[in-house]
Amino acid sequence: MDEVRHLIVGAGISGLALAAWLRDRDYLILEADAQIGGYCKTVERDGFTWDYSGHFFHFKHPDIEAWLRARMPGQAVRTIAKKTFIRYGERMIDFPFQKNIHQLPQDEFIDCLYDLYFAAQEARPGGEDNFKAMLYSRFGRAIAEKFLIPYNEKLYACDLATLDRDAMGRFFPHAELSEIIRNMRVADNASYNATFTYPRGGAIQYVNALASEVDPGRIALEEPLIAIDLTRRIARTSRREIRFERLISSAPFPRLVSITGVTYDMAAFDWNKVLVFNLGFDRKGARDVHWVYYPDRTVSFYRIGYYDNIFDSDRLSLYVELGYPRHADVDVAAARARVLEDLRRVGVIDGHQLVAEHSVLMDPAYVHITRRSLAEHKRLSRVLQANGVYSIGRYGGWTYCSIEDNIVEARALAADFNSV
Ligand SMILES: Cc1cc2nc3c(=O)[nH]c(=O)nc-3n(C[C@H](O)[C@H](O)[C@H](O)COP(=O)(O)OP(=O)(O)OC[C@H]3O[C@@H](n4cnc5c(N)ncnc54)[C@H](O)[C@@H]3O)c2cc1C
Repeated sequence: MDEVRHLIVGAGISGLALAAWLRDRDYLILEADAQIGGYCKTVERDGFTWDYSGHFFHFKHPDIEAWLRARMPGQAVRTIAKKTFIRYGERMIDFPFQKNIHQLPQDEFIDCLYDLYFAAQEARPGGEDNFKAMLYSRFGRAIAEKFLIPYNEKLYACDLATLDRDAMGRFFPHAELSEIIRNMRVADNASYNATFTYPRGGAIQYVNALASEVDPGRIALEEPLIAIDLTRRIARTSRREIRFERLISSAPFPRLVSITGVTYDMAAFDWNKVLVFNLGFDRKGARDVHWVYYPDRTVSFYRIGYYDNIFDSDRLSLYVELGYPRHADVDVAAARARVLEDLRRVGVIDGHQLVAEHSVLMDPAYVHITRRSLAEHKRLSRVLQANGVYSIGRYGGWTYCSIEDNIVEARALAADFNSV
C-alpha cells in the first residue's frame, strides 16, 4: 500500500497553495479532473480568453499579490477601475443600488427614501433574523423589493428567508442612511473591490504561479478520492489505497463527509448551481462597462460581464451567469437560446454574430450559509480533525470567499503543520 504524510485532495487554488507553503515534501495531491485549477480555470478559444465565470481580483494582502506576481514572469496584469451597473427598467443605475436610488425615476426615488428612513427609525433587535429580514430591516421595503430581493433570489435560487443574515459576509455592500444621502451629492461607490486586477492570460495565471512551487510529479490527475477509512487513516482512490498521516481536502464538504461514513445532517447543506455561458461576437458592444446586474425576473441571467472592456479588445466577449436550485435539471441548449434572445431584448447584442462560445455548470457555486450549516460544519470538522482530516477552501469550508481568502487559509494551515 502507498503511504504519504500529507494527502491533499484537489489541485485548485486551496490544494496548490497548501502544497506550495508546506515545508514537508512528503505529499501527494489527488485531483479528479484532467487539469489543475478547480474553478479558477481559463479557457482560450478563437482569440477569446474566458474564465469559468468572471474571476476578478482585489487583493487585501500585498505580500500575497507580490508572491504570486513574482511567479508570473512576462505576464501583464491590468489594474482596472471598476465600472458596474444595474439594469433597472430601461435605465442603467450605478452599483450598488442602495447608494444610487437618486438615479431612479423621481416617484420611485421618493418611495425608496421614505421606506429607508422609516426602516432606520424602526429598526428593532431581532428584526434581522435572516438574510431577507435583514434586507427589509436595513433598507426598507422599496429598495429591498426593487433590487436586493429579486437580484439575490435569481442568484441564490432560493427563498432568502432560509439564509443567514450574514450569508454574504463582507461581500455584501452595506450602507447607512447618511452615506446614501451623501452619495447623492458626491458619488462614492467605493466597495470591497473598487479596482480589480486581471492577468492577460486569465485567472489560471494565479493557479500556475502557485503550481510553480509544487512538484508536478506529486500531482495525480484524474485520480478521485472515493472513500476514507477514518480510524485506519486509509484513503481509497479510483486506482489504489493510500495510508496518510493527514488528509487535507478542498472537495465540497458534504461530499467529503459522505465518503467517510460519519453520519451527518444532509439537510443542513444546500447550494445553488450557476450555469455560465462565455460568448464571443464578431464586433464590439457597449464600452465603459465591466459588469451589469439584472434584477428583472423576466431576464434569464442575473449578471453579465464584458471581458473585451477589461482587455480593451475590439470584439464583444461576454460571460453570462444564470442561477439554479441544486436539484434543477438544467437544459443547457434551452438556456443558451433564451440567453441569446434576452441579450437581444435588453440591447446587449444588436445584429452581432456569435463566433465562439463555451459553457460550464458550476455545481456547487454559491453555498447557502445558514445557522444549521454553520453548526453542522463546525461539529463535523471537529470529528474529522480528530482523525487527521482537514477540510479547507471555498467548498471545504462551506463558505463565501475569494481566491485570496483560500490562499490565506491554506498558508496558515501549512504554517501550523510546519511548526510541529
Ligand atoms: C460564479 C463564481 C464567481 C467567482 N468569482 C470570483 C472572483 O471574481 N474572484 C475571486 O477571487 N474568487 C471568485 N470566486 C471564488 C473562487 O472560484 C474560489 O474561491 C476558488 O476557485 C476556490 O478554490 P478551491 O481550491 O478552494 O476549490 P475548487 O476550485 O473547487 O477546487 C477543488 C478541486 O478539488 C477537486 N476535487 C473535488 N472532489 C475531489 C475528489 N473526490 N477527489 C479528487 N479531487 C477532487 C476538484 O476537481 C477541484 O479541482 C468565484 C466563484 C464562483 C462560483
